[in-house]
Amino acid sequence: MNLNLKGNAEHTFDAIVVGSGMSGGWAAKELCEKGLKTLVLERGFDVKHIVDYKTANSAPWELQWQDTPSRQMLEQQEKQNRTGYTTKPARSYLFVDDIDHPYEEKQRFDWIRGYHTGGRSLMWGRHSYRLSPMDFEANAKEGISIPWPIKYDEISPWYDYVEKFAGISGQNEGLEQLPDGIFQPPMAFTPAELELKSGVEKKWSTRKVVNARVAHLTKPTAEQTALGRSSCMYRNLCIRGCPFGAYFSSQAATLKAAENTGNMTLRPHSIVHSVIYDEKAGKAVGVRLIDEVTMETTEYFAKIIFLNASAVASTAILMNSKSDRFPNGMDESGSLGGYLMDHHLGVGANGIMDRHLDKVQYGRRPGGFYIPRYRNFNEQPSSGKYLRGFGYQGGGMRQGWSRGIDGFGADFKKELTSFGPWSIGMQGFGECLPYENNRISLSPDKTDKWGLPLVVADAAFQENEYAMREDMMNDAAEMLESMGAKNISTYKQEPSIGLGIHEMGTARMGSSPKESVLNKHNQVWGAENVFCTDGAAMTSAGCQNPSLTYMALTARAADYAVSEMKKGNI
Ligand SMILES: Cc1cc2nc3c(=O)[nH]c(=O)nc-3n(C[C@H](O)[C@H](O)[C@H](O)COP(=O)(O)OP(=O)(O)OC[C@H]3O[C@@H](n4cnc5c(N)ncnc54)[C@H](O)[C@@H]3O)c2cc1C
Ligand code: SF4
Repeated sequence: MNLNLKGNAEHTFDAIVVGSGMSGGWAAKELCEKGLKTLVLERGFDVKHIVDYKTANSAPWELQWQDTPSRQMLEQQEKQNRTGYTTKPARSYLFVDDIDHPYEEKQRFDWIRGYHTGGRSLMWGRHSYRLSPMDFEANAKEGISIPWPIKYDEISPWYDYVEKFAGISGQNEGLEQLPDGIFQPPMAFTPAELELKSGVEKKWSTRKVVNARVAHLTKPTAEQTALGRSSCMYRNLCIRGCPFGAYFSSQAATLKAAENTGNMTLRPHSIVHSVIYDEKAGKAVGVRLIDEVTMETTEYFAKIIFLNASAVASTAILMNSKSDRFPNGMDESGSLGGYLMDHHLGVGANGIMDRHLDKVQYGRRPGGFYIPRYRNFNEQPSSGKYLRGFGYQGGGMRQGWSRGIDGFGADFKKELTSFGPWSIGMQGFGECLPYENNRISLSPDKTDKWGLPLVVADAAFQENEYAMREDMMNDAAEMLESMGAKNISTYKQEPSIGLGIHEMGTARMGSSPKESVLNKHNQVWGAENVFCTDGAAMTSAGCQNPSLTYMALTARAADYAVSEMKKGNI
């Protein structure tokens, strides 16, 4: 019998949210606003909005070693250095290193994380697109993996809901493959992008060049202003944190809203190990955690538990959650850990345009253009057969001093302060199919310094993705040709899972506990008061950037959780 009644009361809340990143922030906001006393457990350090964005206003010359990683960093962080940007001094404090946070890979796996309040919502690229009805139906139609247990119509109102609060700039286009949404005014195209749009849309009635849809405020609502957020200033230093709260992050938006209710308790340095399952009650009752700093273990209790630690980390928690009822972790289907997906990228084309040299772009716009999917939709593949498709992100800006000017004296100085031609480029984001053998597991014998078993990844892109990459490269060059771009060059790097930073799957949603970990409301089958609403839940990937879908799934699941709790069902 536990007689520590005071201790238990202090450790008991209505709800627990694990992780304070993109999806955890949403869970915290929704649960707090519905009146639940909510404990948010964040494994990393606390990053306070604005005051802790250390390099947000630093000029290039103020950055350590001109923002170049030290030799020691390069030697110590073999995996992180492969990615090319997590070790730059201006931002490295927000990215997880290989030293304290090792993992194992059987095939190359780039696991790019942020362990701090806000998670990767602070460093993300902010492109925000809905999945389409076609994306939710593809598995079922093609007999791939398992069908999604929900259709687009069920999530569409929740996309509306999260877009309105987050603030997405963009434009409605009436496209079936990229549903419209609730947008603030788009960031204007540059002359080079307008030329691309006109060239592409004249040549192909099937292809569209649309404004990037990015989570930046361009016309803040009263709700956003009340949270202290304001319009984007076009400085494109977002990855270091935004002093204006102009892009969507947990700090600027959801955690702030949760905090305003007075119902949120945020506990940083809290590494959740597992969910506690009570055999007698037949449900989960809390979580076990390890304090990152003191190494002490402790337990917290609640009626509802939301796992939002990010796809791989939430799955690791479910795997660690062993009980008589769940001897292999919280899953009976055998699918936990499988079907890891990511978007494959690093393929596209670049060129220049020497028209409109009397114009320059306005500021440092943090958006660009997007070309929605057309292959296997209204155009067949041309590079062999493959399923699904890809979209492109790109931009066209005047070249500056870094264009590699040579020279001497006054003429050289003049050249340095002038603009070069327009540079225009696009990169493909391709869908990855859900493969059973693309897996993560936990090491049987290796642990980190907190005693947690290391994550082991064994996953790779397969034939379908490689076949698609030919079209991704060739089509990009063709589209640049259509606008009359010059010096067109293509690229196609070797892709690796994780490098798209859209890792998802491994605890998928489905219609039966025999084949999935989560049901259609993101509840763990057999422990229905545990919800997992981050990327782990994804049954397929689409080719659109996924975070908006995690936000919508989270808001939807929180609404359901509270209504079920009120009915006494969980
Ligand atoms: C450079 C970059 C560019 C990106 N661009 C885009 C983009 O343009 N569009 C897009 O849609 N997505 C983009 N992404 C991906 C996007 O950031 C992720 O999809 C999103 O943040 C995932 O949300 P999440 O809540 O699952 O995880 P995260 O935001 O990563 O948050 C997880 C949180 O959980 C915490 N945590 C982990 N384990 C534990 C534990 N055991 N106990 C307690 N807490 C734990 C972490 O510290 C973290 O704070 C980008 C990411 C990066 C890094
Ligand atoms: S570009 Fe906009 S969102 Fe990004 S840091 Fe600047 S003001 Fe903030």
